[in-house]
Amino acid sequence: MPPKRFKRILLKVGGEAMMGNRNFGIDPVAAIEVAEKIKQIYTEHVQIAIVIGGGNVFRGVAGSKQGIDRATADYIGMMATVMNGLALQDALEQIGVPTRLQSALSMPSVAENFIRRKAIRHMEKGRVVILGAGTGVPYVTTDTGASLHALELHCDVLMKATKVNGIYDKDPEKHNDARRFATLTFKDAIQITDVEIMDTSALAMSMENNMPLMVFKLFDGDSLLQAVKGKNIGTYVSNNVETKFVQ
Ligand code: UDP
Repeated sequence: MPPKRFKRILLKVGGEAMMGNRNFGIDPVAAIEVAEKIKQIYTEHVQIAIVIGGGNVFRGVAGSKQGIDRATADYIGMMATVMNGLALQDALEQIGVPTRLQSALSMPSVAENFIRRKAIRHMEKGRVVILGAGTGVPYVTTDTGASLHALELHCDVLMKATKVNGIYDKDPEKHNDARRFATLTFKDAIQITDVEIMDTSALAMSMENNMPLMVFKLFDGDSLLQAVKGKNIGTYVSNNVETKFVQ
């Protein structure tokens, strides 16, 4: 079972959350909606680092399929995450949440460089730290960045906000009889191939270093608040649980 309450979390927000009902790009109204969810836990004094994705703007894999060199395409994708980071920073500050944006790619005009100890200090001082550019290297995605940052920032948990309210044994959009896991071992999570949970590299890193993962739906009432309070929201993945479906 998840611990009673998380004190420091790494929240992974996919780029799609920033796009609202659009097909592409950033919807400022959606950015405020994401920010409002984060404010709910900020006011509960949870220390928060956010890894923001870039899929609403550019994904390296898609770019490379269209002929761009893969590494170059990935750098474009990383820059997309910094754009989202700026939009999320703006939204959070509009509603009174202090933030710092740090980037794993050096862009000093718009973001601090990622400095681990500084990021921890910001959280201790009550600032939400937004982490752009993932890991700063190509051939991986922001899931791996989220796992890595959760570990080095000594977070209690990696919370992955998605469109679906947890991990299912098969794609719930295609199968009526799909069942949601309440708890799942990392070993089993890596073996579920029908459902895209997270990059295998991110899962493996979390497994090897005992960083629990919570997968939940962001736009589902106050699910994020419930999740940080340790309520049984979504799916909790750890080395210290048994794989069990929701009853
Ligand atoms: N990316 C990368 N290295 C990283 C993080 C991201 O190369 O450490 C690139 C990669 O091309 C990826 C893109 O940035 O497709 C956007 O991130 P991601 O696809 O993870 O965004 P999300 O799906 O979370 O919106």
